[in-house]
Amino acid sequence: MTKKWDVFPSTTLKVGQDFRLAGFDTAATPGFSGNEKDALKIMDKHAKALSELQEKLFADGRTGGTTSVLLVLQGMDTAGKGGIVRHVVGMVDPQGVQHRAFGKPTDEELSHHYLWRIRNALPAPGKIGVFDRSHYEDVLVVRVHDLVPGAPWAERYAEINAFEAEVAAAGTRIIKCAMLISPDEQKRRLAERLERADKYWKFNPGDIDERAYWNEYQAAYQAMFDGTSTDVAPWYAVPADNKWFARLVVGSLLFEALSSLNLGWPAADFDVAEQQRRLAELEI
Ligand code: AMP
Ligand code: MG
Repeated sequence: MTKKWDVFPSTTLKVGQDFRLAGFDTAATPGFSGNEKDALKIMDKHAKALSELQEKLFADGRTGGTTSVLLVLQGMDTAGKGGIVRHVVGMVDPQGVQHRAFGKPTDEELSHHYLWRIRNALPAPGKIGVFDRSHYEDVLVVRVHDLVPGAPWAERYAEINAFEAEVAAAGTRIIKCAMLISPDEQKRRLAERLERADKYWKFNPGDIDERAYWNEYQAAYQAMFDGTSTDVAPWYAVPADNKWFARLVVGSLLFEALSSLNLGWPAADFDVAEQQRRLAELEI
């Protein structure tokens, strides 16, 4: 028998006010007593269901619906954000996905408010938007390196909460996943990138510079969790030392979010019987 979730991750991994990153077990598999093989079987089932759910979402968007989904992925370098996009988001029709990776802002982006580039990338109705990094960089890397004057973090958390509430009210279901790895796991993954010719392209010498700020990042993440895990847009703390578990979690959260939209197939806006008759009668 394939093991299923004992407790769904939307319950166990949701970040509440008492969440503490220090001491969080990044290698654990909370709510799940199965192994990688069990996880892959569940993912297989999710893949089939997700593909139909995504098509319903897309059809809804095509027929005037305003609903969309936004998956926000945050995490330190090597945390597995790219793998989530490939393995989890890759399960659905690429036409229904709006993927965007946020790197260092361009000069144009810097000349605008930090939410400008984010607003421009929000998913259209019917789409699943995926942010590989996001506006949260503006309270993480920007906070760790003091890239804006005046330490406006409290203001930014409030601003982000208001922004996300507005996005949610307009019909977007927001799922925020923080992919959490241990410093040892990051070291192992960086070392692997330096050992394998097929991984060199993923390595960036700057990743080691950032790694030096591990503790400052932990503090920035904790403050971010404290300030921005809200009812309309909660954070999920995803233990990501085991890639298979992280993928299972995000796949399951996506599946649950899409299921809960209760989308049906749009009704025909034409007379079905009449169109059947026309088709039958037309001789060519
Ligand atoms: P990667 O995702 O590995 O391609 O790296 C993207 C880099 O861009 C990371 O080092 C991020 O911290 C950085 N980045 C993303 N957003 C911002 C931002 N708003 N300000 C400064 N750096 C950023
Ligand atoms: Mg990187």
